[in-house]
Amino acid sequence: MSLKKVLIVNKTFPKAGLDLLKDKLQVTVLPYLDYQPEMLPEIKKNIAGNHALIWNTKHRLNKELLDLAGPQLEAITTMASGVDHIDIAEVAKRGIPLGNTPEVLDNAVADITVGLLIAAARSFKPGIREVESGEWKYGVQWNLSRHINGTTVGIVGLGGIGQAVVRRLKGFDVGRFIYSGRSDKPEAKALGAERVPIEQLLKESDYVVLCCPLTEETKHLINKETIKLMKDTSVIVNIGRGGIIDQDALYDALKEGRIFAAGLDVTTPEPIPKDHPLVSLPNCLIIPHLGSATVETRDAMAKLSSQNILQALDGKPMLHPIC
Ligand code: NAP
Repeated sequence: MSLKKVLIVNKTFPKAGLDLLKDKLQVTVLPYLDYQPEMLPEIKKNIAGNHALIWNTKHRLNKELLDLAGPQLEAITTMASGVDHIDIAEVAKRGIPLGNTPEVLDNAVADITVGLLIAAARSFKPGIREVESGEWKYGVQWNLSRHINGTTVGIVGLGGIGQAVVRRLKGFDVGRFIYSGRSDKPEAKALGAERVPIEQLLKESDYVVLCCPLTEETKHLINKETIKLMKDTSVIVNIGRGGIIDQDALYDALKEGRIFAAGLDVTTPEPIPKDHPLVSLPNCLIIPHLGSATVETRDAMAKLSSQNILQALDGKPMLHPIC
């Protein structure tokens, strides 16, 4: 009997995930990295006839690609928590199970979030620039920044990652945790976090931490108008998706000192060009989407992707189903 076929759209899909598929499925791994434009024609060439897709790419899985894949397609998973690169309605319409890989990445992404928060608040970037250029101007009033203890931290999206961020920041003697979202989180009580409207969160927070998905509702949630609500001493951290922030508005606000600093793990586009205006700002620290990038976490995500696919092809529910 011939094996069912799975297409993995990223050449760096970890071996830990591939090993689970060995001898069970016929695997094709595309030769390009997820963000390379050359990948799209390669996807179009290879997608037909597959029974499953591991969609580990920034190219959007849309109607055109699903049509090209063909009616035999039985299962799709991301190797990510976010599913903003998938046309979910189109997948659901076709009744194809779709899964993702949350939870296993919460700790790694929360670590990066706290790292970014400290680095942005404590002005690592201008400090490092001065060290590297030999212009370290030592003095008691040099490179002064913001502290964390006693402050208000606002989490936009108290999901798996947001909760792991709060657990970590509790060790920093934060004064108050608030969060915004579409529903009350049962875990919030134990974490000591209070749900407030987004406008109140932006007004009262010293740290605004974006841990929500990119959706129609959250696209450019941080924009020219909403930035006006924020304190001029506030720091914004984004580990969600670049599209949650209107980057032109963020640039103006950081340049004019209307907020203190930003720490971004995610941007639009990715990779962000080195001559992008945000890259030039001393108070905008950008790291290259490192959230889940530990060996252990990526292995766990790959295994979960493979398990999602194997479960669905076996007629069982995925471990983390979206629809
Ligand atoms: P999750 O467990 O599903 O949590 C997402 C949270 O966002 C939920 O609590 C949800 O609560 C909330 N949310 C949804 N719409 C919202 C809105 N309009 N305003 C405020 N909150 C909203 O997902 P997660 O694993 O924590 O991941 C969150 C996001 O982080 C992902 O979607 C992805 O974009 C990003 N991410 C980034 C990295 C990285 O490497 N930087 C890694 C993993 C994930 P309600 O539905 O009640 O609002």
